Order: sequence, then structure tokens, then C-alpha cells
Amino acid sequence: MPELPEVETVKNELAPNIVGRTVRKVNLLWEGIVRKPAAAEFRSRLKGRKITGLGRRGKYLLAGLDNGEWLILHMKMSGSLLVRPATSELPRFTRAVLHLDDGSGIFFCDPRKFGRMWLVGDKDSVVGELGPEPLEQEFTPAVLTLLLDKRKAPLKALLCDQHVVAGIGNLYADEALFLAKIHPLRLGGSLTPAELKRLHRAILEVLLKGIKNKGASIENYVRPDGTPGGAHLEFMVPRKAGNPCIRCGTSVERITVRGRGTYFCPECQV
Ligand SMILES: [Zn+2]
Repeated sequence: MPELPEVETVKNELAPNIVGRTVRKVNLLWEGIVRKPAAAEFRSRLKGRKITGLGRRGKYLLAGLDNGEWLILHMKMSGSLLVRPATSELPRFTRAVLHLDDGSGIFFCDPRKFGRMWLVGDKDSVVGELGPEPLEQEFTPAVLTLLLDKRKAPLKALLCDQHVVAGIGNLYADEALFLAKIHPLRLGGSLTPAELKRLHRAILEVLLKGIKNKGASIENYVRPDGTPGGAHLEFMVPRKAGNPCIRCGTSVERITVRGRGTYFCPECQV
């Protein structure tokens, strides 16, 4: 699933193509991609609107519109957003196309059909419950300490919980825990102040590196021009059990934490 670095990359690369453009037509090839309002209303209300800005909150993309409303998109498990001439042949698994006034189209492709769009007046009705943004100044070691304080869930699960911290998912949680040398099954409330500081720094480091490398193309993720990102090429934890840890050579293990495949080094993550 695209995580913060992937969504941030899509935002950065999509913005120059869509900000200032007007939506001429909305083509829904699969109406289920619209979560709110009903598909027909979504189509008619979005048509003619100018996109005034593009932001990100957690794994959501938020496009501000000239009438004060928000077009919100979530790529979920397997979605991608491609920019190409609106008259192009439809890429595989296209579920929706937004036709813009410069002749380009935003193609929302999604093989697994978990991706969604919303058109709402109040963006907090969609993203209001998210935890803090890890790359904002508000996210300090003290804030992370409060978020994890007394929590009895495994750290891996807490880091992936969007109500705790926004934007982190399976891949970057494993990377951050590896870098901080902390075992994924440690309980949130069990970290020492030194470990909390290390984890905080590790979260920032792996996310910033992921953005610098334009996201990780392990599964379906591609950038808006259709090219893959390179972040997975620099991942520290091998995502294959038995492969050696880059720090100590011990075989990396795979466990499942709340349904998520989790890779870690049993020797240097304690
Ligand atoms: Zn190791």
C-alpha cells in the first residue's frame, strides 16, 4: 500500500499538472470508487470546479477546490494516479478519469478496487481522526512518548495505526524499528526514554529517505508519470525471511503482527 513517502511523491509530482486546472469532465468506469456523495452528484458537482491546491494528510491526497470544497483521494492497497493526455488509451484497471481543461487526464487505476474518492465541504469529516503528521514540527519525541504511553499493543501495530501517527504503514514501520534496533513485538508503553528518542529519529529518517527516493515500488505503486520509485532499493530490512541482516549477518525473521507481514532481525532488534 502506498504510505506517506509514496503519497507525498504523488502529491509533489501531480501538483504542477493539476493545480490551477479546471475539471471538464468526470468519467467513472467503476462508480464504487466514489465514497461520497452519490456517483451522479459527485460527477456533476466536480465538473467545472478549479483545483486551487493539492495537499497530503497521512495517506490521503486533498485537492482544494475554488468553491471551498475538497476532492479527497486515497489509493489504499493498490491504487495509482497517472497523468497523461485525456484521450490516451485507458491504462489497465482504470476506475476513474478526471478530464482537465488543458487536455490532460488524471487516471485513477486500481486493480484491487480499495481506492476511494470523496467530495466534501468539511475535509475533517474524512481525515479529522488521524494522528499527527510525523514530518511536521508538532511531532516531537515528547509527543511520541505520549502517544505510546501505557499502550499495550505491539509497536508494529501502533506505528501502523493511523490514529496514532498518520502515514506510516507496513514497510516504513519495519524500517523504522530496524533502524531504532527495537523489536516489533515490544509493547508501546515499554520503551525507555532513550528508545523513544531513537524511534522518533528513525521514523523521520526512513520517511525522509523514502521521499527523497520517490517512494517504494514493491507492489503496484508507480509515480504519476508511470515510472517506479527507488526507495525499496535502499530498504535496510530484507523483505525475505532467511536473508542476512545488513548489520550483523543474522537471518532476518518474518512474523505476522495483527495480519501484517513483519520482517526484523532477532539479534539486533531487542
Ligand atoms: Zn542484525
